[in-house]
Amino acid sequence: MIPMSSPDITDAERKAVADVLYTPTLSMGPQVEAFERSVASYIGASHGIAVNSGTSGLHLAMIAADVQEGDLVVTTPFTFIATANCILYRGARPVFVDVDPDTGNIDPLLAAYAISAIETKRPRQITAVLPVHVFGQPCDMAPILDVARRYHLLVIEDACEALGSEYKGRKAGTLGSLGVFGFYPNKQITTGEGGMIVTNDDKQAEMCRALRNHGRTGQNQGHTELGYNYRLDEMSAALGLAQMGRIDEILSKRAQVAAWYNERLAGMELVQLPVIAPTTTRMSWFVYVVRILAPARRNDVMNSLAAMGIPSRVYFTPIHLTPYYRKQFDYGRGYFPVAEHLGDVSLALPFSGVMTEDQVDTVCDALRKVMA
Ligand SMILES: *Cc1c(COP(=O)(O)O)cnc(C)c1O
Repeated sequence: MIPMSSPDITDAERKAVADVLYTPTLSMGPQVEAFERSVASYIGASHGIAVNSGTSGLHLAMIAADVQEGDLVVTTPFTFIATANCILYRGARPVFVDVDPDTGNIDPLLAAYAISAIETKRPRQITAVLPVHVFGQPCDMAPILDVARRYHLLVIEDACEALGSEYKGRKAGTLGSLGVFGFYPNKQITTGEGGMIVTNDDKQAEMCRALRNHGRTGQNQGHTELGYNYRLDEMSAALGLAQMGRIDEILSKRAQVAAWYNERLAGMELVQLPVIAPTTTRMSWFVYVVRILAPARRNDVMNSLAAMGIPSRVYFTPIHLTPYYRKQFDYGRGYFPVAEHLGDVSLALPFSGVMTEDQVDTVCDALRKVMA
């Protein structure tokens, strides 16, 4: 059986986790601190704040950005649901903007139109822009940063799928005010559950640090804010730290698997390969997603693959078409046609850094049979 994804974990990493269990410190200790330093220095940010999921990282980033009840946050509907949920946690409202048909990332021109239209009518209602680097490919950030600067909006990057990816030579997660990474087992590196906020802003870092630990600040550890328990434990951090020790190897193994797919699927009828934008100077492969073109139907292809024992997934169902958002905001089809189209045709194939060339062959042979 070829799994949809699998973590890339060595014996040294297993040992690093087990070693923590021989120490008295299972939370708030040296592993978390070292893991934070490791990610921050790799990314080139002054601060890393480890948390227990990417979602909790996004939640704290929203608070650090001062997103308040009734505010608007501009984001994309073509993402994992946590991106928009963290806006709702604040009592704020997402303003969805449709996406670029090539990359699936937020369309910067549409974002600029939406922002200037709203700000002209209701100045200062938008607090932040939350672009998502979908599938490990950075958004076109320059025009997003431009319009954000013009209207004094903070930019928070949902970089949960994009550890190590680069936009015009600069690492995703360092382009806005705050960036958030996720370490769920299907991500580039994993801590089991986990995430990390990165920022160059001392005050925002201090705020996130306090909020993840019940709002404790200062020497006397007074609870000065309404905080949460979003701490990452030492065993998880030890795993993350050991994974960061071979981050380049991990990312290049994933790039190799993507290259095997590209090679084998090139020219296959009705299958469109992932598009890499010229601004993406380094792709950090999170998933390998193809598009199934008409008249073939994505769901039929997915079912036929499943019948042959090959798993595949829809990536993504646009957020505005999920039952909760439809119900809450009266969304339906037709609001964001590009995201909807991508949601209809995108198919993620089994993918991980530990996949063998034979396994890629098996998937591609099955897909070739199905498409024929
Ligand atoms: C994985 C992911 C997250 C965070 O997920 P967690 O399961 O909470 O770690 C957030 N946004 C996107 C786009 C993701 O892919």
